[in-house]
Amino acid sequence: MGKITGFLEIDRRDRKYKPVPERLKSYQEFVIPLGEEGTREQAARCMDCGIPYCHNGCPVNNQIPDWNDLVYRGDWLKALKNLHSTNNFPEFTGRICPAPCEASCTLNLPDTPVTIKTIECAIVDKGWAEGWITPQVNPVKTGKSVAVIGSGPAGMACAQQLARAGHDVHLYEKAQQIGGLMRYGIPNFKLDKTVIDRRVGQMEAEGVVLHTGVHVGKDVTIEELTAKYDAVALAGGAEKPRDLPIPGRELQGIHFAMDFLSQQNKRVTEEPLNNITPILAGGKHVVVIGGGDTGSDCIGTSNRQGALSVTQIEIMPAPPEKENKLLTWPNWPMKMRTSSSQEEGVARDFAVATVRFEGENGQVKELHCARADEKFQPIPGTEFVLKADLVLLAMGFLGPVQDGMVKDSGVELDKRGNVFADTFQYKTSKEKIFSCGDMRRGQSLVVWAIREGRQCARSIDQHLMGKTDLPR
Ligand SMILES: Cc1cc2nc3c(=O)[nH]c(=O)nc-3n(C[C@H](O)[C@H](O)[C@H](O)COP(=O)(O)OP(=O)(O)OC[C@H]3O[C@@H](n4cnc5c(N)ncnc54)[C@H](O)[C@@H]3O)c2cc1C
Ligand code: SF4
Repeated sequence: MGKITGFLEIDRRDRKYKPVPERLKSYQEFVIPLGEEGTREQAARCMDCGIPYCHNGCPVNNQIPDWNDLVYRGDWLKALKNLHSTNNFPEFTGRICPAPCEASCTLNLPDTPVTIKTIECAIVDKGWAEGWITPQVNPVKTGKSVAVIGSGPAGMACAQQLARAGHDVHLYEKAQQIGGLMRYGIPNFKLDKTVIDRRVGQMEAEGVVLHTGVHVGKDVTIEELTAKYDAVALAGGAEKPRDLPIPGRELQGIHFAMDFLSQQNKRVTEEPLNNITPILAGGKHVVVIGGGDTGSDCIGTSNRQGALSVTQIEIMPAPPEKENKLLTWPNWPMKMRTSSSQEEGVARDFAVATVRFEGENGQVKELHCARADEKFQPIPGTEFVLKADLVLLAMGFLGPVQDGMVKDSGVELDKRGNVFADTFQYKTSKEKIFSCGDMRRGQSLVVWAIREGRQCARSIDQHLMGKTDLPR
């Protein structure tokens, strides 16, 4: 372990953000790294617990105390190797993971967890800066081929693992660029897209063949792919957004969050918008409906576009300011959290039921609301009105789009409408077809998608070769 008394001597210190007025001027990342010495000092706080709960708190089971110790001792290269042994893309999680590992850290009992995510990010950023991260090309080819459909974190991890096992891997993506929701949902100010690009470069050098702009189910059928390849992995995400069918929904100015966010991400990276009507928040009163990550990204983007006001409403009651550690630890607690985007300026309200939209000349102008009871119904006499020139629906996703690829493949679905496959074999009900990520588990997190992609690759390798050396 690092410094035996480190946790007693050193205070928790995390990365800071650039000041709000400065960061609102651009779509650039605004997190300020701790620097090499600062990171080593924080790594020294790890207690190397007898039972390190962070191992299980982290969905990819990162071996956190091991790399904390290596960072403390200054052996960054070994730390990077260890980190990569469980996580293909620590630079994604080191930026946008909510860090359930830190909730399960023993030092979270007194509210001072090790800054695990910050240390993870520092290790991999140093790895890239030093040129230590290079393609891992397998010189031995198996002669087997796999199509991976969907290039979010699940499809990327699955494809990379399979290429490293020596298979001929083809990654199909309907969008113009690789990355899934990390590319088109999560804004650049949280994850700069060059961070995805350099990983994609590594994957191509390892032999992954990219087929972007190919919509499976439209441009090519799933039958053609299953005939052509020895195995197929469905990693198409959970793209069906939850709608809000209240009176006035047909008015102009009410949009799904992803339509708004993907446009801005394309503007930033100068990807053509192809004649779609722009959705912009500048000079408008914006209402964001939904309190999760997607809602936060809408707030940050609206503020950068120059919104007059941003209001975020949530139907659930406000969570407690502080969790009861004895009941929740080492699990992820429900508690009030303020994201960096919320910190930049928003009026937040909880337990709000939406009643109807009102408009003028076909354009939304107001959202009529009421306080919600415990059954999420409006309480009579509590009605109020919000100014709303632009409404962004960020109420989550209902599962994969079924028309097209999923229906055509004939795979069984689970009760929630996700593609059915277990978490051991990731096999669907159809021979040769596997599934992972949000398409299988429903709306989730990048780190879970990476885990599923890796484990699905292992199962496919086992299926093709009768044995596998890929880790679970
Ligand atoms: C706005 C937003 C913000 C988020 N913020 C965070 C965050 O901060 N931290 C976090 O951990 N998670 C966050 N998430 C969740 C996270 O992005 C997802 O859980 C994760 O990306 C799922 O990965 P995936 O690979 O399963 O699917 P996706 O990332 O959804 O990728 C699926 C890909 O498949 C492609 N595809 C689908 N069907 C086809 C087809 N028929 N043919 C070809 N291609 C197809 C899609 O175009 C897409 O590129 C956020 C989600 C959203 C929407
Ligand atoms: S991937 Fe997420 S949960 Fe795992 S160590 Fe990194 S920040 Fe923590």
